[in-house]
Amino acid sequence: MKWHEMRAEEVEEQINSNLNAGLSESEAKNRLLQFGTNELQEAERPNAILLFLEQFKDFMVVVLLAATMISGLLGEYIDAIAIIAIVVINAFLGFFQERKAEKSLQALKELSAPQVMVLREREWRKVASRDVVVGDIVKFTSGDRIGADLRIVQASSLEIEESALTGESVPSVKSVSPVAGSDIAIGDQENMAFMGTLVTRGSGVGVVVATGMNTAMGQIADLLQSAEATITPLQRKLEQLGKILITVALILTALVVIVGVLQGHSLYDMFLAGVSLAVAAIPEGLPAIVTVALSLGVQRMIKQKSIVRKLPAVETLGCASVICSDKTGTLTQNKMTVTHVWSGGKLWSVTGNGYEPKGEFLQDGNKVGKMDKSLQQLLTFGLLCNNAEVKVKNKQYVLDGDPTEGALLVAAMKAGYTRESLIDDFQLVKEFPFDSERKMMSVIVKDNHGKLFVITKGAPDVITKVSESLLWNGKRELLTQKYENFVKDMVHTLASKALRNIAVAFKPITSFHEGMLEKDVEKDLIFIGLQGMIDPPRPEVKQAVKECREAGIKTVMITGDHVITAKAIASEIGILPMGGKVLEGRALQGMSQEELEQIVEDVYVYARVSPQHKLSIVKALQKKGHIVAMTGDGVNDAPAIKASDIGISMGITGTDVAKEASSLVLLDDNFATIKSAIKEGRNIYENIRKFIRYLLASNVGEILVMLFAMLLALPLPLVPIQILWVNLVTDGLPAMALGLDQAEGDVMKRKPRHPREGVFARGLWWKIVSRGFLIGLATLLAFIIVYRQNPDNLMYAQTVAFATLVMAQLIHVFDCRSERSIFHRNPFQNMYLVGSVLSSILLMLVVIYYPPLQGIFHTVAIDPKEWLLILGMASLPTFLLVGTLFTSKAKKNMV
Ligand code: ATP
Repeated sequence: MKWHEMRAEEVEEQINSNLNAGLSESEAKNRLLQFGTNELQEAERPNAILLFLEQFKDFMVVVLLAATMISGLLGEYIDAIAIIAIVVINAFLGFFQERKAEKSLQALKELSAPQVMVLREREWRKVASRDVVVGDIVKFTSGDRIGADLRIVQASSLEIEESALTGESVPSVKSVSPVAGSDIAIGDQENMAFMGTLVTRGSGVGVVVATGMNTAMGQIADLLQSAEATITPLQRKLEQLGKILITVALILTALVVIVGVLQGHSLYDMFLAGVSLAVAAIPEGLPAIVTVALSLGVQRMIKQKSIVRKLPAVETLGCASVICSDKTGTLTQNKMTVTHVWSGGKLWSVTGNGYEPKGEFLQDGNKVGKMDKSLQQLLTFGLLCNNAEVKVKNKQYVLDGDPTEGALLVAAMKAGYTRESLIDDFQLVKEFPFDSERKMMSVIVKDNHGKLFVITKGAPDVITKVSESLLWNGKRELLTQKYENFVKDMVHTLASKALRNIAVAFKPITSFHEGMLEKDVEKDLIFIGLQGMIDPPRPEVKQAVKECREAGIKTVMITGDHVITAKAIASEIGILPMGGKVLEGRALQGMSQEELEQIVEDVYVYARVSPQHKLSIVKALQKKGHIVAMTGDGVNDAPAIKASDIGISMGITGTDVAKEASSLVLLDDNFATIKSAIKEGRNIYENIRKFIRYLLASNVGEILVMLFAMLLALPLPLVPIQILWVNLVTDGLPAMALGLDQAEGDVMKRKPRHPREGVFARGLWWKIVSRGFLIGLATLLAFIIVYRQNPDNLMYAQTVAFATLVMAQLIHVFDCRSERSIFHRNPFQNMYLVGSVLSSILLMLVVIYYPPLQGIFHTVAIDPKEWLLILGMASLPTFLLVGTLFTSKAKKNMV
């Protein structure tokens, strides 16, 4: 017999498990050792040696190797060995960079690895999906991705979308009874849930019958091995730019070589100079450094509690102009405490803090003696229609479950009720779980006389709609307009105190059958009362909202909560300005997309909205040219998360579906983390601009010094090996350190970057060309001055030129840290940069003064007093233009 044909007990027996207790940890461990982890086999990753050899595929490396061969053939062994050494060092650097990038991507994957709720030793525990074994009892709910193949043993309103296996996108309704027929298709196995499919509605429990490659998914896993490589828009642009730069560099190099040969230099010298120059001038390392900068940024973001799932999001973050944020849990703490209860026309306040079940019910400041019957019902029914549990851990009361339900549970416990105390009187027959569309939840219970009741709790406006009477002063009254107004007024009063309200209602029913739907029971109810709960804002949110505003980013609150509650909290945390609009889901429903577009920029709070409204809001904002970040946690949020420019999901409360749709996961569900991520996103982009500026200006300088010298019929100011050295040591290390630079102080005071803005916008081209030109010129001047003084010692003049070029670049690198000028930043803030600059200087000194290397690098010891000239010339490119900047500013001021 197949699993779907068996009864649940037969499965339990066959598989040697226990539906009530689950497996023991030791048994689970044994099974894991015996049958392996619950994972699909992945395509093999390239091994280290292959990755290292990959580095030699690079076009420039091939050119260099060719040059080595030619040098070797011509008997220039020292040149050949030096070039080979540089090629190998280069390959090692590239190899380590790529390894690092790959490792960090792998670490990201591990962090977002799914977890599953399993029953072990009678307790529900969260374990990594890969540790699930056959026989485990697994609990799942709407939004979860199923982690193994399961035989379902409990299901409430359960629907699962199985398109990954069957291609059918309409979810299948699931049940628990055995299904006959051993050969039936997966789509018809109604009591089975398969690995990789999605729970779209309801909840359930199942026994694991297959894991890993033995699952239905495992059997088709080969088809799923298409890992998509993500490349960011900037990387793509740089790839295109790289091609242009290669052409320009090759043309200029050819020019240098031709002019050099015409001026009488030897063909071999010019060939080697040309090759080194081409290698130095082409920023072949740029894409790798960009990847490293992105992935290091991503690692910094993990420390600040956000995980980037899609690399392009890092860039888009810097362009975000609107953040649409959920309220509960993201802007607020999601720690709910009932502070007021209202029933039968009377209002009580409730004392106590958090989830500790200690507190009193007060009326007009006095402790309540005997509780009204309707108040007792409000509290007990609030507890019965509820799945939360409060446990004591480390002497603290902690909640297991939904905070709204936790608040209701604790309120009931304060009055002396517990689930255990009610269990003899009421038995749960059926549950219709909460969902954000209906905004309510119901249970059917049977009391100890065999009578059946529906208990429903939910948003007050929804509950009044499905109620036909209410309890008032100990009597049951028809819910006329008059009473409805009483309810509305009380909701208004409580909501103005920023309280979230939950209404509780019930009705007796005569019969029940399995096929009953929510709409059959959630009607003609008797309204009992309201419980108002406080959910304080997160303390850091107000400041974060303010910083976002200063950064030109608007924050919009989107909530399923009541409009007045939403408004009260939005005002408190500074989201809702004077005159800002608040829009309700109802109004949104009646609007066309065009009408929404017309007002969307004035709206700051959306209340009582359903998840599908989020999609219209995202689209309207995008139509208005905004780059939208949108948060969400549920299944129904996924379309809006996907459609937004930066989809954000919640690490703690988010469902698998929302996480998979998102490009950013907040590990702490906190709004302030979005702000930090945006700041980091802006910074990463600026850092990329910084080292592009540095590398390209350096390259321009290197080419120009050679070109100018050839045009002026001078000897070569730099020998090829020196050019290669500058390219490797002086350019590489500081550029990496720029990638690690901190944000400039005003990075969150600027407007968001326009998404179509080029990398070279805001004057970057000018800075690259002007500084590059000056670096070339200063190096040449130093060369000419020393060469004129002593034309017989060309090697000395070349060494001075080499030192000037290196120092000019190493001073210029500090200028690259700021969009304004070198004086705007403390150079010691980035110790990586200081370290890399010092080590570059040290290495240069070794090359100049250490005799064994002098032969290889064609250098001679420089006279100490010459350093004055070198440093003076090297400072020119950076400080000359700062001067002009100041004078032009001063002139402007005078005008
Ligand atoms: P957010 O601000 O994150 O969008 P929310 O928690 O305010 O979300 P929903 O979870 O969609 O929004 O809840 C909408 C309304 O449904 C709440 O205002 C509350 O009245 C009601 N509600 C929330 N949780 C429950 C629950 N567990 N049972 C019954 N009703 C609930």
